[in-house]
Amino acid sequence: METKEFKAESKRLLDLMINSIYTHKEIFLRELISNASDAIDKIYYKALTDESLTFDRDSYFIKISADKDNRVLKITDTGIGMTKEELENNLGVIAKSGSLAFKKENDLKDGYDIIGQFGVGFYAAFMVADRVTVISKALGSPEAYKWESSGAEGYTIEPYEKETVGTEIILKIKENTEDEKYDEYLEEYRLKGIIKKYSDFIRYPIKMDIKENRLKEGTEDEYEDIIEEKTINSMVPIWRKNKSELTSEDYEKFYSEKHYGYDKPVKHIHIIADGAVRYNSILFIPEAIPFDYYSKEYEKGLELYSNGILIMNKCADLLPDYFSFVKGMVDSEDLSLNISREMLQHDRQLKLIAKNIKNKIKSELLDLMKKDREKYEKFYKSFGRQLKFGIYNDFGSNKDMLQDLLMFYSSTEKKLVTLDEYISRMPEEQKYIYYAVGDSVERIEKLPQTELVAEKGYEILYFTEDIDEFAIKILMSYKEKEFKSVSSSDLGIDTPEDKKEDEAEEKENKELFDYMKNVLKDKVKDVRASKRLKQHPVCFSNDGELSIEMEKILRAMPNGQDIKADKILEINVNHDVFDSLKNAYESDKEKLDLYTNLLYNQAMLIEGLQVSDPVEFTNDICRIMK
Ligand code: ADP
Ligand code: MG
Repeated sequence: METKEFKAESKRLLDLMINSIYTHKEIFLRELISNASDAIDKIYYKALTDESLTFDRDSYFIKISADKDNRVLKITDTGIGMTKEELENNLGVIAKSGSLAFKKENDLKDGYDIIGQFGVGFYAAFMVADRVTVISKALGSPEAYKWESSGAEGYTIEPYEKETVGTEIILKIKENTEDEKYDEYLEEYRLKGIIKKYSDFIRYPIKMDIKENRLKEGTEDEYEDIIEEKTINSMVPIWRKNKSELTSEDYEKFYSEKHYGYDKPVKHIHIIADGAVRYNSILFIPEAIPFDYYSKEYEKGLELYSNGILIMNKCADLLPDYFSFVKGMVDSEDLSLNISREMLQHDRQLKLIAKNIKNKIKSELLDLMKKDREKYEKFYKSFGRQLKFGIYNDFGSNKDMLQDLLMFYSSTEKKLVTLDEYISRMPEEQKYIYYAVGDSVERIEKLPQTELVAEKGYEILYFTEDIDEFAIKILMSYKEKEFKSVSSSDLGIDTPEDKKEDEAEEKENKELFDYMKNVLKDKVKDVRASKRLKQHPVCFSNDGELSIEMEKILRAMPNGQDIKADKILEINVNHDVFDSLKNAYESDKEKLDLYTNLLYNQAMLIEGLQVSDPVEFTNDICRIMK
């Protein structure tokens, strides 16, 4: 028997591995299984070129067996095996000698995915085992060898008896500690779970002896334990299957098995890309909002596989924030299994995949909108808000990507419409896309400000969500048509004659309005004769960028208390109320003060704003009742 020390670097790495506060110790099994699968692949590829070899699928497998009493876990494969030299070179030395330097250069934090950083999967065994034995017989070699190590001290190597070609990894599982229950790596259900989670799509069967308590044959109440060898992994992943073989139910089953959501997705997207970057992907557009979706806790991302092996549960770099609701997976042969999170961010392949996916999601959503409006609306009810946030965020840099996906409730259609549909219906003389803002469709319907635009027969989009107007201000225009609030002081629908008439009217009543403005002081920017009001006596309109609705939203936020929209009090000069104002101006200024304050507070209430002194307001009403 030969006893050897590990090379200095391997020693330090082992230390790190054994003492790491690594939280996913379970991945040791993923690493050992993927090595076994690699070893079988090697025989398979050899058989392709070597005529003396035949590859009979049935004789290639991986087997996991646990012996609880002796705390032994065994991973056996029928792969290519290792010679004595290979055992020494592959397991005794770290092939990629730059890996520790890599950690230092990149200042990686402790507790980080060490496997990912170093690409030294085999060493992961030492996270759960205090002794690792490898018995291997290489293809074409008459002898077998046993390699054994208890960690940092070094390893021994000696000839051993083994009949068949392949490798057996024997782990002596650690005793439980206070923090860590190593026992679980000997439990059938736990091992099955780990295999399913990480290695379900390994191309070769992963077998386990499964114990079942069954009714004894020929008896009615006698049970016996029967041990049967079963294949745990499903081997062919659904995303590698032919699209034509798959039904919607298959995709839905996959969606729920993967726990992507409890709902039924409105759409699945299956991508098989074979161009500049090769990958397979299955994506889902969910119907329902996950309970934590609009919170900080929600984590976006897609599962990332390298050639069928899961390397990351939620790869955030694959999805832009505005499509964070998308669920699914990506599998690419072009990605290395041992790639780290940091490296992923700079990976060219990954960037290409992300870009591809993003465009695909958009085109599929547009397609859904055209072909199945009902489903699109279901989706939009859940995630439309996220699309609008997407327009608002990053200074509008994604607006081209997202604007066609937007929908708003329409005053004339009485349902959700797209901006494109709105534009296509616009009469020729209409210059703007009109919108009105309020808490609900019902409330907006009653807004006095909509009267003139509605009378013109123009369609009005109703903005009922906080984000709507903010997003539209960033969007500014759609297909060269600007957006305009029905509350804006200049609606852009006057004819030149109207303008003249207005000016004359304004002059006539200037003193009255100046007086009223003086009563209200800074509360309003101006008091004017209204051009838009038909039935209602009074309303606010709005100058400048900040609307009254935006004021409401911003004021509800911390630090937003001083924000104020420029309000213009508009008076309907054709309303009876205006005669009362004129009379009061002539004969009773005190009354005019009272009326002015009342009208102002009415306009406040119509906007859903709070009257600053409700007691005074009710007293004022009582005064006119007397
Ligand atoms: P990697 O898989 O990234 O090369 P590992 O540390 O997981 O790194 O494995 C080191 C090497 O040991 C492998 O490249 C392979 O040559 C060899 N090896 C590990 N496990 C087996 C096995 N079950 N059969 C044959 N060779 C193996
Ligand atoms: Mg490996």
